[in-house]
Amino acid sequence: MGISVQNVDKHFGSFHAIDNVSLNIETGSLVALLGPSGSGKSTLLRMIAGLEQPDSGEIFLTGENATYRSVQDRGIGFVFQHYALFKHLTIRQNIAFPLEIRKAKPSQIRHRVEELLNLVQLRGLGDRYPSQLSGGQRQRVALARALAVQPKVLLLDEPFGALDAKVRKELRTWLRKLHNEVHVTTVFVTHDQEEAMEVADQIVVMNEGRIEQVGSAAELYDSPASPFVMSFIGPVN
Ligand code: ADP
Ligand code: MG
Repeated sequence: MGISVQNVDKHFGSFHAIDNVSLNIETGSLVALLGPSGSGKSTLLRMIAGLEQPDSGEIFLTGENATYRSVQDRGIGFVFQHYALFKHLTIRQNIAFPLEIRKAKPSQIRHRVEELLNLVQLRGLGDRYPSQLSGGQRQRVALARALAVQPKVLLLDEPFGALDAKVRKELRTWLRKLHNEVHVTTVFVTHDQEEAMEVADQIVVMNEGRIEQVGSAAELYDSPASPFVMSFIGPVN
């Protein structure tokens, strides 16, 4: 599902958090929203998800105006940095949860959960509890749970932010691989330029509620559109 954000504006009180942002995201792409803390990345993501309403402007999903559509009706899965798993449920039960509340058939749920455990390479750990998994494994469970209902769009807000550098690196490679298998349109927020450049097909550079530039890692690096992009993308070492 493609995403089109058109002239979106958002204030919090007198603070201008998103300043006339327009953005097109192609179906099946893997896009990073990159920018420093406070640049409006989460706010933009939350508006795409329907968790926040724009003051003005519109958001289209597959060409249809979804600006006023409810979160549930957008066909979106999301994972946030601190989006906790249910501690008292096993991994299998955690992944099954969104299917249970949609009253899917038990046989379908069992099948889908096994499929997802395979996909996130956690087969054999289905009967464990979240506390018995590493941080990286838990985030993979969170991703499996977000994918359970076969969303058309996956939104990830700093999904690896709380993890240590080594695990983050593993998860980057893994997210890339997952995307190659599932092809769901994915938008992820990060303030880490290396993470964005390594994982994303397209990078949206944000600063003070505006989009500075959209491009591939090579495009941003070779022809930065502004001094901000130049300094933020910086020479990668
Ligand atoms: P980022 O994710 O890039 O760090 P955010 O989108 O979270 O940035 O926030 C952008 C700005 O908007 C920040 O200065 C933040 O304090 C402010 N902001 C975000 N959400 C709210 C809110 N619900 N109420 C007031 N201010 C907010
Ligand atoms: Mg944020």
